[in-house]
Amino acid sequence: MNYYSTNKQEHGVSLEEAVVKGLAVDKGLYMPDAIRPLPETFYEHIDQLSFQEIAYRVADAFFGEDVPADTLKQLVYDTLSFDTPLVPIHDAIYSLELFHGPTLAFKDVGGRFMARLLGYFIRKEGKRQVNVLVATSGDTGSAVANGFLGVEGIHVYVLYPKGKVSEIQEKQFTTLGRNITALEVDGTFDDCQALVKAAFMDKGLNEHLQLTSANSINVARFLPQAFYYFYAYAQLKRAGRADQVVICVPSGNFGNITAGLFGKRMGLPVKRFIAANNRNDIFYQYLKTGIYTPRPSIATIANAMDVGAPSNFARVLDLYGESHAAICADISGATYTDEQIAETVKQVWTGHHYLLDPHGACGYRALAEGLQPGETGIFLETAHPAKFKDTVEKIIGEPIEIPAKLQAFMQGKKQSIPMSKTFADFKSYLMTLKP
Ligand SMILES: *Cc1c(COP(=O)(O)O)cnc(C)c1O
Repeated sequence: MNYYSTNKQEHGVSLEEAVVKGLAVDKGLYMPDAIRPLPETFYEHIDQLSFQEIAYRVADAFFGEDVPADTLKQLVYDTLSFDTPLVPIHDAIYSLELFHGPTLAFKDVGGRFMARLLGYFIRKEGKRQVNVLVATSGDTGSAVANGFLGVEGIHVYVLYPKGKVSEIQEKQFTTLGRNITALEVDGTFDDCQALVKAAFMDKGLNEHLQLTSANSINVARFLPQAFYYFYAYAQLKRAGRADQVVICVPSGNFGNITAGLFGKRMGLPVKRFIAANNRNDIFYQYLKTGIYTPRPSIATIANAMDVGAPSNFARVLDLYGESHAAICADISGATYTDEQIAETVKQVWTGHHYLLDPHGACGYRALAEGLQPGETGIFLETAHPAKFKDTVEKIIGEPIEIPAKLQAFMQGKKQSIPMSKTFADFKSYLMTLKP
């Protein structure tokens, strides 16, 4: 399968090249030339298949031409060694729990798959080392670092803002060692992202090192996020409730929901999607007005969605031929303040004894407010509430349990390299690395 750039200056790019480069030279995002529908018989019997079996069928549609079947199967099965159960909350609302992976967030799926696919290409070609640069405000860094841990031929550099991530988050990427290096930047998340962007633009640096990104702009991280939409549908079908399915996705950079839209294009019977925003409601405003106006992000308690210029918006536009009407026919929006998010976490805890994280709370609330009679709603619970311990405990007024996986990270010893926010310092550090 070949890939083209959403900016249309690049065509005929191989999967391998798209994965290794991350972003196209024209700064567009890569899209596959074709999105192949899966046969009707697959959907008829999907409720009898396991998560791994379903995911392999989806992966085969995306990557089957470029990766041998047994290798691809292994990649998928290794990635999905944990479950993503669909849990009924009340009435017609279900939570798709995407937090049963190693770092307790949905980004584990894409992070692990990308690490394995890139590792495969490096082994196959006997390529020189690839260096993954990732800027994080917390969650992306841990999922990417843990996904790539121990993968030969790849070194990961995680840039994070000093003093601005929680202790639990910091421990998840500073305690790993081996092929993971944490750079503690004296600045904000935006400074970290600016350093990474500048590094990709710098000619000298790119001649010295093979650099790539592991944000959701990378097709190898983004496409595997489609897997669990199919499995969610299968679970709903098993429960006899798969007639009018609405899926609600707490969204920031819009990688997650775009993968779901790809699923719909492949025939997955989803009636419609809802994109739930926090106060960074650029997409919500776009749906209302037809005008896309990025603006600086503001800090909220659902901080993994604090995005002022959603990078995958370009993919959504491309998928719908730039038609605002076509986009509005498939997706509606919602936006919530911190007060509304907190109120929702508290209400659902008190009323239904289900503990939401601040991101999932946006998703739940959009369904609770927007589901029509006859519809069944799934919201994506994108992270375990314990990842936002302080926020959640303050809201519900009682201590919460920390899962063993998170506790294990807390035992590790933090190791990081201090870094200023000036590009010259970052560049000279990278230039000392062996290619
Ligand atoms: C990354 C993240 C999101 C947003 O996902 P996008 O693909 O960027 O839209 C939502 N919730 C959590 C917990 C996240 O980590």
